[in-house]
Amino acid sequence: MQGKMKALVKTEPAPGLTMKEVDIPAIGPDDALVKVKATSICGTDYHIYAWDESFQERIKPPLIAGHEFSGEVLEVGENVDIVKPGDMVSAETHIVCHTCHQCRTGQMHTCINTTIIGVDVDGCFAEYVSIPAYNLWVNDPGLDLSVASAMEPLGNAVQTALAGPVAAQSIAVTGAGPIGLMCIPLLKMCGAQKIIVTEVNAYRLNLARKLGADIAINPAEEDPVAIAKEATGGLGVDGVLEMSGAPAAIDQGVKMLRPGGRMSALGVPSKRGVTLDFGDDIVFPAITIEGIAGRKMWETWYQTDGLLKAGLDISPILTHEMPMEDFERGMELMASGDCGKVVLIP
Ligand code: NAD
Ligand code: ZN
Repeated sequence: MQGKMKALVKTEPAPGLTMKEVDIPAIGPDDALVKVKATSICGTDYHIYAWDESFQERIKPPLIAGHEFSGEVLEVGENVDIVKPGDMVSAETHIVCHTCHQCRTGQMHTCINTTIIGVDVDGCFAEYVSIPAYNLWVNDPGLDLSVASAMEPLGNAVQTALAGPVAAQSIAVTGAGPIGLMCIPLLKMCGAQKIIVTEVNAYRLNLARKLGADIAINPAEEDPVAIAKEATGGLGVDGVLEMSGAPAAIDQGVKMLRPGGRMSALGVPSKRGVTLDFGDDIVFPAITIEGIAGRKMWETWYQTDGLLKAGLDISPILTHEMPMEDFERGMELMASGDCGKVVLIP
């Protein structure tokens, strides 16, 4: 399709994004052109917007930012048969190579040649996006478009939560950003016995309570390890979902666990180096720490889709929705932390 569209572009290696008219992207034989209906802001987008040091080497302007979206397929390339015009879709944002060791052994979510839309190639803060059709997930036509735009981070929550047992378990979630918050209704639905949440931001702590966390702790005010131990008869929790990347929370997380428990770690520390008591907190209590990357392709997507069909409701976590033109207000909300997911409508 030829023509122009509005997009949020990183035009130069400096803070900010610029709303611009650009060409509607061309599609290759294996791609689909999607009309973006809703796109949600991820922490990564905020870091790219703010031009954090960690992204300065990787991002090559000009680049259209954004990777979480829902939309409608408009056109497909000549080789495409897995989606068709009219399909309502969300997308796996990791474009994998299909040929590396990881891809060939069923671990595509850790492909060593991964490129990410809105990071390495043009993304979805735009009216249209071109993406390999393989990356699309077809939703029920009735699925709310904002919820569908958050399928990708919801998949992070699902992969992390379901990396170990949940039913009848006591689980701590360290960090109640949008993904940590999504874990709360998910854990409840999957039959967790007790959900303990730690978070330093009052708005998010409050939202965690509203979503049904049994105990919500601000670690700046109370000792989460003592509270988690007390709530579990002195033993410690069965599982920790690490959703903050904060070194202090990771340390508290391993200390909150009972011997033999599991920490599933999604949060990414902003700097190298996390100090843990490797002997007393990991080796002797024989805990398991598992890193969680992206979403398993496509197991996590089937699980996420199935949980939504079974009634999982993440809509209270989509706290703000605004026209794409208002992205600067959305980015300010992300900076303050006084929000769940912020959704932009192109
Ligand atoms: P986020 O940054 O919005 O959430 C992190 C939350 O942790 C914030 O609300 C913050 O206030 C809270 N926090 C900070 N210090 C804390 C502490 N000491 N104790 C408790 N909470 C604390 O991010 P998000 O979008 O919800 O994502 C969660 C994490 O997962 C982030 O670290 C993100 O980078 C990471 N992530 C990883 C993957 C992956 O593939 N591994 C994918 C997406 C996101
Ligand atoms: Zn690969």
